[in-house]
Amino acid sequence: MAEPTATDRIFPTLTPGQIARIAAHGKARPIRPGEILVEAGDQGPPFFVVTEGGIEIVRPAGDTETLVVLHGPGQFTGEVNMLSGRRSLVRARATEPGEVIELDHDNLMALVQTDPELSEILMRAFILRRVELIAAGVGDVVLVGSAHCAGTLRVKEFLTRNGHPYNYIDLDRETDVQALLDRFQVGEGDIPFLICRGDRVLRHPTNEQIADCLGFNEAIDTAHLRDVVIIGAGPSGLAAAVYGASEGLDVLVLESSAPGGQAGSSSKIENYLGFPTGISGQELTARAYNQAQKFGAQLMVAKGARRLACVRKPYAIEIGDGPRIPARTVIIATGAEYRRLSLPNLSQFEGAGIYYGATFIEAQLCGGEEVIVVGGGNSAGQAAIFLAQTARRVHMLVRSGGLADTMSRYLIRRIEQSPSIVLRTHTEVVALEGSSHLERVRWQDRQSGEVETHAIRHVFVMTGAAPSTKWLDGCIVLDEKGFIKTGPDLSKEELAEAEWPLARPPYLLETSLPGVFAVGDVRGGNIKRVASAVGEGSIAIAFVHRVLQE
Ligand SMILES: Cc1cc2nc3c(=O)[nH]c(=O)nc-3n(C[C@H](O)[C@H](O)[C@H](O)COP(=O)(O)OP(=O)(O)OC[C@H]3O[C@@H](n4cnc5c(N)ncnc54)[C@H](O)[C@@H]3O)c2cc1C
Repeated sequence: MAEPTATDRIFPTLTPGQIARIAAHGKARPIRPGEILVEAGDQGPPFFVVTEGGIEIVRPAGDTETLVVLHGPGQFTGEVNMLSGRRSLVRARATEPGEVIELDHDNLMALVQTDPELSEILMRAFILRRVELIAAGVGDVVLVGSAHCAGTLRVKEFLTRNGHPYNYIDLDRETDVQALLDRFQVGEGDIPFLICRGDRVLRHPTNEQIADCLGFNEAIDTAHLRDVVIIGAGPSGLAAAVYGASEGLDVLVLESSAPGGQAGSSSKIENYLGFPTGISGQELTARAYNQAQKFGAQLMVAKGARRLACVRKPYAIEIGDGPRIPARTVIIATGAEYRRLSLPNLSQFEGAGIYYGATFIEAQLCGGEEVIVVGGGNSAGQAAIFLAQTARRVHMLVRSGGLADTMSRYLIRRIEQSPSIVLRTHTEVVALEGSSHLERVRWQDRQSGEVETHAIRHVFVMTGAAPSTKWLDGCIVLDEKGFIKTGPDLSKEELAEAEWPLARPPYLLETSLPGVFAVGDVRGGNIKRVASAVGEGSIAIAFVHRVLQE
């Protein structure tokens, strides 16, 4: 039999046996020519398999349409939003009289969770179709911004990490956008702005406003009591979601930004098991996100936990002025936040010359230029090696006398071998200069006291992170650095003071509050690696089962 082509994988034709298995989960119904089966913007659209006739998928723009694909007998509609229940980006219309099998979201989820062969065909097609939509910029968002604007970078990252396609108009390159700006009366302070779902204009929006406009969280019932609410969608939270949902738990993940966590800002993770040539953090976590959704976990984005109501059970998680989300058990996977340089005007340049991640997006901004990487840990080493591929020169600034104590040996060797990386020991950044974008950096040799000024416009700060635990507000025992204490690390005295109510001691990864677990970088004593975060996320689920049975 011939190998399937790329088109076969994106738009496969199902066998009669496969169609019969799908039919068992849905209902057959006739279609009329011109009948709209899904409208662009419909939330949680149904899934259709054509058994007779045809369905065209078009992308509407004003009064015109662009044909995306024509599905014939044996082919099916849908892409990634079928799993998330988010809004449709395209219109589906019958082209001739015929018949389809229709499945709603719940029945489709039941199908992919119980039929491994169809699950693989559908998942692969949905993901490849989304990749095509992203590559073609087919979406319901136009982002207008500038590479010199921190907000633009943030919004790009938010949309990218949510796997949401968008078109980008770069104000620095497009000289002809004035008419567009006038039409929407957009001033400099309104940049970036977003044209959302056709005509709604969001000026300098927050991630939450974008998520609301695009309906990212619309399909989620916040009043429903979950078996487990996971807070944070980095590797540890996503692992807990995959294992929890795949083992039949009712899982909701709350994420204050977008899925991926710190790992999402890593250009290439080379030490995660099973990826000998490395994988970008974004790709790894995007896969995990789809996997969690496949098993039925739900994910709320741009909704951070502000407080844990921990006095009585079920616990409740407050998300701003919005609802309190009830939970039988809670997994805290909020990771850590980047340490910042203590310079008075730092925030002026964040995203406009100061970056905390070195991904493809940032690398594009500084191609052919000199850049600085601050820090001597593994993330700094990876960033320097990655940036050296596109930057003219990478200055690595470390306060200590060398890298040996803080960085893996393989990275040190690559840094030494790279002609475009210059290691500057005993050196720190002492001043930043510029207006709308960073233009110059001053650094000081701590031994000689000598200060040099360099016309460098990009600084990557890779100096570690502090735990995201302030929001817990005394509910849970923390260590002296603010990381969460769990299991055997909690002393008898600490448990007594926290009024631990059970005869048994806390399980491994359980905090001083029964049924509340901590995993990944936010946990005291955690090894700050993707693998350990993923491992802890999966282990916590085993204990969640035990708590739910108590
Ligand atoms: C640049 C870089 C490169 C790295 N490279 C590697 C590598 O090559 N190999 C390796 O093993 N490790 C690497 N690491 C470390 C690895 O990424 C972390 O150990 C891992 O991401 C920790 O996962 P986590 O899920 O515990 O936390 P995080 O990844 O920090 O995720 C926490 C998530 O919680 C969210 N959150 C925080 N507060 C709240 C709240 N109140 N409500 C809701 N959500 C919240 C955050 O937005 C975030 O998405 C790297 C780290 C960085 C920064």
